[in-house]
Order: sequence, then structure tokens, then C-alpha cells
Amino acid sequence: MIYFDNAATTFPKPTAVRDAVLDCIENWCGNPGRGAHTLSLKAADRVYTCREKLALFVGLSDPTRIVFTGGATAALNIAIKGTLRAGDHVLCSELEHNAVWRPLQALRREGRITVDTFPVVGLSKEKILQEVAKRVKKSTRAIVCTQMSNICSVTLPIAEIGAFCRAKGLFFIVDAAQSAGHLPIDMEAMCIDALALPAHKGLYGIPGCGALALGKRLLPKPLLEGGSGVNSRAAQMPDELPERLEAGTLPLPAIAGLLGGLSFLESIDPCALQSHENGLFLAARERIEGLPQYEVIARDAVGPVLLFRHTRASAVAVARKLSENGIAVRAGLHCAPLAHQALRTGTEGGVRLSFSYRNSETELDTLLRILHEI
Ligand code: PMP
Repeated sequence: MIYFDNAATTFPKPTAVRDAVLDCIENWCGNPGRGAHTLSLKAADRVYTCREKLALFVGLSDPTRIVFTGGATAALNIAIKGTLRAGDHVLCSELEHNAVWRPLQALRREGRITVDTFPVVGLSKEKILQEVAKRVKKSTRAIVCTQMSNICSVTLPIAEIGAFCRAKGLFFIVDAAQSAGHLPIDMEAMCIDALALPAHKGLYGIPGCGALALGKRLLPKPLLEGGSGVNSRAAQMPDELPERLEAGTLPLPAIAGLLGGLSFLESIDPCALQSHENGLFLAARERIEGLPQYEVIARDAVGPVLLFRHTRASAVAVARKLSENGIAVRAGLHCAPLAHQALRTGTEGGVRLSFSYRNSETELDTLLRILHEI
């Protein structure tokens, strides 16, 4: 199979990840913080190492502010629902995935918050900031946005929006589901208060875990209550992180996979990875645009994700034909109807190619052959 669906989840995983998951299951899968025996202590040690590596990776000085969650969706729900209060106004971008949009809309439907979106597509950094500033009100409490779209490679000026938030006293919550592993992230330099990450995409871990990285200014309310391994007598969750937001047993094999993924990323040059993915984007764009029936959407945003459509065949039909020929892509709305609307592909979406370090230009030859046949 030729796998161009890495934005859904990266595949295949590096061997370091498989080895790390196996090592966990076979050698250290005790319950951390729930026992004083060696297996539990070993697990606690590995989990802490993963917090340390991830903190370093996202520019956070305190590893205890890395909270493990079930994924980026869970992290965003905690950050959004655990932070916002009745009467708050929130801004998000027009490129948000449903993992941001739906929690915001759920709070809005309950009458607790109001939400406005700001435009991004086709705008310069300066113009995006102006659009953000125009929408800020007295009641605005937070800006929530993605660093990179999940349907194309458009990115947001995170450092600039972060500096703006800090100057205005707003919380800044960032969805790094598509950017982590592709773009540099420095929470402290970018003034990010909460960052949501999945383990299984650009960090090359396996599904089942993600993280919420929290800056010093934000301490969300827990969404889940339960055992934390500390302060068992208390009837409420502890104040300290990460325990406050980690009710229940952690997904240890997935945390092990994340540790393996981070070690893998440490072993490769991030600039070389970025230029590999950008090279594939440029080659694919040139060749797809060479076929008269196809259009590349957001063509100037170069990166790991390329969206295109056929002028007559539906996106789903194109993806089906590709699948019949052993090529995996994702078609449709990609859980991001808002973003498709912004790109004017809201009716039926498009076909998404998403690259990883494993893809090659030879694979593009096969893709182009089938696209040409279609
Ligand atoms: N945000 C974006 C931009 C995404 O692409 C995704 C995954 N499709 C998520 C959030 C949610 O990630 P997960 O499904 O791993 O929780």
C-alpha cells in the first residue's frame, strides 16, 4: 500500500515505537503512582521521562505541566471546558477542526459563552492579527486556534497571536494536532497557555494517548474525577499537576509509544524532515496541476498536507479509485466543515494527501498515473 493519510495517523510507525510499546508490555507495565513495588516505580519513571521529553519538545520548562490524556480531542475538551466561564466570549479561527469547534459550540448552545471566528485564508500575518484585534471585546477571555490546518498546509501566526493574547490578558489555547512534529513549537516563546497534542500523528506514537501541555497561568478544572494515586482521603481531585487532570490509570503502552516516537524524532534532523515533506508537496502540486481536470486548493501553503479536487468526479469517487489501486488518502470534509467552507470546498470537500518521512517521489509516480486514468 502507498500510504498518503498521515494526517489521520502516521503509518507505518518507526521500529523504535514498536520496540518501546513491546518493552512496556513485557517489562514495565505496572501502574504508576499506585504501588511501591518495582514494576509500579519503573512505570512511574518511564512516564516521567516521557513528560520530560515532551516538555522539552514543546518548550515548557516544567514537565509536571504535561498532562496525559486520551488524545488531542480530550486535551482540547479539558482546556476549553475547564477554562471558560459563564459569560465569556471566545475567538477561534475559521480553520478549526471539530475537536475545537464542537466543544465551543456545545458551551455556546448551553448559553454559557459566545464565539466568533476570525478569517485566515489568503491573509498576511499582519492582516490576521488585525482581524483578531477587531473582534476582541471586554468579555473576550481566550483565543483558541489550530497551528496548522488538517485539510491543507495553511498555518497560523501562533507567536504573533500569542504575544497579542499576553498583551491583552487573554488565554491562548492552541491545537497542535497537525503541527507537532512538522513545525517548531515553543510554548514559552509563543505565549501559549495550553497546547493539545496527539501522540499518533507527527509524533509517531500509537493511538490511545495525547497530551495537554499547560503554561504557568492556566489551571483548568478537571472534566473527569477519580483516582489520582495521591491524597486518596480527599473527596476532590488534587490541585497539583499532572494528577489534577489525570483521573484513572494512564494508557501506558501508548505513552511508551510516544516516548519511542519522540526518541525517533530526536534521531532525525527536523529541517531535513520539513524539506522532505515540502519537496513532496511541491512535486505533487506541480504534477497534479499539470492534469487539466484537477485543482490544488490553498496551493501556496507548502507543507505536509495537500488538498485537491477533480472538476467533475466527486472527492469520494477519486479516493475510492485510488484505494482500489492500493493508495490510501482521505476524502470528504475531514471533520473540519468550517475549514472547508473557508476554502470554498464546503459542499463535498476534497481529496487530502498527507505525507510523512516514509513517502517518496516514486510513490507520487503511481498516484499520478491513477489520477491521470481517472
Ligand atoms: N485537531 C486537529 C486539527 C486534527 O486534525 C485532529 C485529528 N484529526 C484532532 C484535533 C483530534 O485528534 P485526535 O483524534 O487524535 O484526538
